Amino acid sequence: MSLPEPARRDTRLDPYIDAYAERTHGLTVSAVRALFAVANRPEVVSLAGGMPNIADLPREALAAAFDRLITERGTQAMQYGSGQGEPFMRDKIVEVMAEEQIQAHADDIVVTCGSQQALDLVTRVFCDPGDVVLAEAPSYVGALGTFRAYQCEIVHVAMDEHGIEPEALRNALVTLKAAGKRVKFLYTIPNFQNPTGVTQTLERRHAIIAIAKEHGLLIVEDNPYGLLTLEAEPMPALRSMDADNVVYLGSFSKIFAPGFRVGWVLAPHAVREKLVLTQEAATLCPPVFSQYAIATYLDQFDWRAQIDVFRDMYRERRDAMLAGLSDHMLEGTTWTRPKGGFFVWVNLPEGLDSQAMLPRAVTARVAFTPGTAFYADGLGSRNMRLSFCFPPPDRIYEGTRRLGEVLKQELEMYRTFGLGAASPRHLDQSIGPAPDIS
Ligand code: PMP
Repeated sequence: MSLPEPARRDTRLDPYIDAYAERTHGLTVSAVRALFAVANRPEVVSLAGGMPNIADLPREALAAAFDRLITERGTQAMQYGSGQGEPFMRDKIVEVMAEEQIQAHADDIVVTCGSQQALDLVTRVFCDPGDVVLAEAPSYVGALGTFRAYQCEIVHVAMDEHGIEPEALRNALVTLKAAGKRVKFLYTIPNFQNPTGVTQTLERRHAIIAIAKEHGLLIVEDNPYGLLTLEAEPMPALRSMDADNVVYLGSFSKIFAPGFRVGWVLAPHAVREKLVLTQEAATLCPPVFSQYAIATYLDQFDWRAQIDVFRDMYRERRDAMLAGLSDHMLEGTTWTRPKGGFFVWVNLPEGLDSQAMLPRAVTARVAFTPGTAFYADGLGSRNMRLSFCFPPPDRIYEGTRRLGEVLKQELEMYRTFGLGAASPRHLDQSIGPAPDIS
């Protein structure tokens, strides 16, 4: 008896198709990335991306400071540096984290190329293929991409408007253990979560820490938005409540500027050592010039006052979005009311499919990110993420008006033709090419 022939793959489109490592097989173009090309056109109100608005930074004064940095300290600032990050940078990071009640030692910090690289290093250090990573349902698309790149199994844990549901976390741990799975960590964004805008309450924070302790579960706390509070004072970070069991990720992207690509990990000592070695293998050292530039900014400018400027600007945008949503959304549509960060999460009425309607929304000159981008298991078709960080308030309001019109038409289609009419299956496969909206 002859063995069946292995399936032949079409190598005409990509001659390397059989050469790629298995870990690349799960790498697919995210809806967010595919969107950027279209959504960036000026006629489209993009509520899709998550770009911080940095127009309010004092650019002329920064230019003068960076000019002096190059002339006076350029030979150090443009040189290779420490794999762990420059000591002066780590000292400054300790100061920044103190704003969120975190007490840390500069030795336990590893500077990274944005918190995105921190996610990559942490996953690389902890996860073998098949290991389970727990993440909120839904969770940050970029983190899901990293976990996939290391062939992790992503298991979502239910959340509500108060954050992760403790019982769901406990049940997931018990079920996964019974199934013989190795759960490596819980990935959570406790403040103004991406994509929902939800903030974990203090009670939930205590409950999650207690469950993690009980089950020997490591927590990876990702906190790029924590200082961008629009109402109350920042909540205490999980790391401030449990120094032994939390790996904390921070970033300058949202409190200063993302282009420098500087973030960090604060980790228990033993983990920190592994992270430094992994960082050296990946990049030799994090960007040295960026660290000098950021330290210059923190030393010579009132960065706390600048965060207040950002807060006022984002608050106005958040309010414009919430006003627009209550003025224009269909009955049966609900949404979160974030107290900080960049994002609002919308639940659509039955019969609507956010991914299927995206091309029609872009044709109507408004873009959003479909909810499916934020789930590893295909859920989220009745959700969308709207970001209020970038367009000015009047454009945000106009965007919600356009969106309201699109929803109305979609619902009419659904009512006339039934379930599936507004969400043809072939559009579910991908968001498709950019529609011509010129
Ligand atoms: N984590 C979360 C939750 C984010 O939203 C982002 C950026 N959108 C990142 C990490 C990555 O940020 P950066 O690499 O710029 O620090």
